[in-house]
Amino acid sequence: MAMNLVVVLAIVVILVGLLAALKIKSPTKDGSLAFQSREPFLSPAERSFLGVLEQALDNNYRVLGKVRLGDLIKPAKGLSKSKRVSALNKVNQKHVDFVVCSSTDLAVLGVVELDDQSHGREDRAERDLFVDEALSGAGIPIARFSAKKGYQIQEVRTKLADMFKITLIGSASTLPQAQEPTPPQAVLKSEPGSTPTVAQPEHMEMIPMCERCGATMVKRQAKNGEHAGKFFWACSTFPKCRQVVAIT
Ligand SMILES: [Zn+2]
Repeated sequence: MAMNLVVVLAIVVILVGLLAALKIKSPTKDGSLAFQSREPFLSPAERSFLGVLEQALDNNYRVLGKVRLGDLIKPAKGLSKSKRVSALNKVNQKHVDFVVCSSTDLAVLGVVELDDQSHGREDRAERDLFVDEALSGAGIPIARFSAKKGYQIQEVRTKLADMFKITLIGSASTLPQAQEPTPPQAVLKSEPGSTPTVAQPEHMEMIPMCERCGATMVKRQAKNGEHAGKFFWACSTFPKCRQVVAIT
């Protein structure tokens, strides 16, 4: 009898010890949590497209990046507890690329997704379908764009206006800019390897991406110097990046 008690006690002691050992298994040895930066926050393609969206929209709208689906929608009323939990888990683990809001009250007007190569994958297609259905069920429109090297701002603007039922006025060239980059003379004179293009109306133009940093470029007009009045593309991150491309 006494022997049995000793065995039971021994087992209890071992179990308690094991549990304690498991609990101590925290991320770092000293027991504190440790993190490291997940930079970059947006992929180069997403960052470029954010610039495109900002140019396509006017000051009445704002773009937020990488928003959790669970912050946009929640399970509908009347779901059973288990369905509710599984719906919550699904929306809490997913993010959408961009949300377009009204700048006054941040009311959600629509979601923008940038589809890169990964969207062709089967798991990704399943995820896209879920996001599309969840958002449309909640009455939030979603606009999908394919990742490209360049975008026609007017095309993007028209699609956003149509899908989000918003009115878009103003264009990129009217956006205020604190500083003006100056075009280097050599770049304006000739761009080796580039083919001269016929001047196009603003809405037909492709907005190029900066070859140096991947940001979108914005159209500028030379204010003075030999080329005063001429237009050129300048990196939108100026003065951080001073890349310019001549418009011939
Ligand atoms: Zn740049």
